Amino acid sequence: MTTTNRPATTALVFEHRCEACHGEGLLYSPVWRRWHEREGEARLAWRADHGGDADWYASPAYVALRLERPAGPQEDPCGECEGIGSIPTELGHQLLGFLRRHLNT
Ligand SMILES: [Zn+2]
Repeated sequence: MTTTNRPATTALVFEHRCEACHGEGLLYSPVWRRWHEREGEARLAWRADHGGDADWYASPAYVALRLERPAGPQEDPCGECEGIGSIPTELGHQLLGFLRRHLNT
C-alpha cells in the first residue's frame, strides 16, 4: 500500500458573504418598504369595502396613493459591505494590502 506525504490542503478564505444583505450587495429601501406596507393595508381595506374582484389598481384610492410613492430607488447599496455582497477576512485584507502596495508602484 502506498501513501503520500502531501500536506492536507486548506482553502484560503479571502472573504465571507455579507450577512446583512445575504450576499446581494443591496438592501430594500425602508421608505419603499413602508410605502408597500401602506399600499397593502389600503388594498385590503378597499377590497373589503368593494369586493375581492374589484380592480384596486384602477381605483381613485390607489391612484392617490401611487402619487405618494418615494422618489428614490427601491434598493440601496448595503452599508455593511459597501454594495459588494462580501466582506474581506483578515487574510483578504492582507492580500488587498499586498496588491495595493505592488500595483501602485
Ligand atoms: Zn452587504
